[in-house]
Amino acid sequence: MIARERLAREFLALAAIDAPSLHEREMADALRARLEAFGATVAEDGAGAALGGNAGNLLADLPGDLPGPPLLFSAHMDTVVPCVGKTPRLDADGRFRSDGTTVLGSDDLAGVCAILEAARSLREDGVPHRAIQIVFSVGEEINLLGAQQVAPGALEAREGYVLDTSGRPGHAVDTAPGNRHIEAVFRGRASHAGIAPEKGANAVAAAAAGIAACAWGRLDPLTTANVGRIEGGGPTNIVPEECRVSCECRSFEAARLDALAGSIAESFRTAAARHGCTVDVEDRKAYETFALDEAHPVVRRFADACAALGIAPDLSRGGGGSDANVYAHRGVACLVMACGMTDVHSTHESLALDDLEAVARLVRELMVRA
Ligand SMILES: [Zn+2]
Repeated sequence: MIARERLAREFLALAAIDAPSLHEREMADALRARLEAFGATVAEDGAGAALGGNAGNLLADLPGDLPGPPLLFSAHMDTVVPCVGKTPRLDADGRFRSDGTTVLGSDDLAGVCAILEAARSLREDGVPHRAIQIVFSVGEEINLLGAQQVAPGALEAREGYVLDTSGRPGHAVDTAPGNRHIEAVFRGRASHAGIAPEKGANAVAAAAAGIAACAWGRLDPLTTANVGRIEGGGPTNIVPEECRVSCECRSFEAARLDALAGSIAESFRTAAARHGCTVDVEDRKAYETFALDEAHPVVRRFADACAALGIAPDLSRGGGGSDANVYAHRGVACLVMACGMTDVHSTHESLALDDLEAVARLVRELMVRA
């Protein structure tokens, strides 16, 4: 049985722990103790050292009685700022909230708590279940850096569930875009702006022309692009020598993403040349797209588990990235499950205990299904 009171106590205890990205040590220790208490074998990988953080990803294995490879269940340990000194509470209306000065941390402790309670309750009740792999990742909120440190061979599971999106229990994201991050550095030549402007090459003007030559926003139903930051120049009496531009593009189609990133780089090069400048363009795959159709076992199992609990499944396309994008390219097909978190990444964030309990029941159902 999912123990509602225990779930509430555990959420409040964990949400009181500070866990900004790359400072997940105390959270990792608290979660390891809980995982080991119900019989999981826990390892911590080297993500902390690799990223300059103080804790690695936790990878836990719980042997199962039912046949089949392990199922993966994952949530992240880190919390977006402001998240230091949280004082979570359960209000009379049945919702967890912070005191309004910090986030609550239900992103992603709702996922963490649902996974813990589901596995713990199955062990307590002696109910046969699948072999289970649990990953609690670090650094998810800083471009999925933690999950990207999970060694390719570390995941035995081929199917799984990432608990990390807003919405009511039963909602899940089955398709998510890939994301490319583009950093461009335009370089010109400094010169006195009044006395000898013709000896200069204006890096700010080149960057502006490059940005103006590209399309931004929603480019087609599957694709978006955004220029997020420009930085450069100095006093107005100097022709500026350098200008940096940061942008990103997302698409549900990998080929479209490649083409778009290529065309942005090409527009920047053309504009740089026209202004007598050069440009270095660094194009990094932040994460890749994934898509699961309704016949996929991960989706069917989710629909069956929802049906068993009288919950209507609600699958949709997502616009953001999660650890599921990273696991997909480790060969693990994952659905991203909603866990009741609301108004995340704000100090109004809240979570209904009813929703948390329902998500824990749903995870428990998934753990016992073929
Ligand atoms: Zn999250």
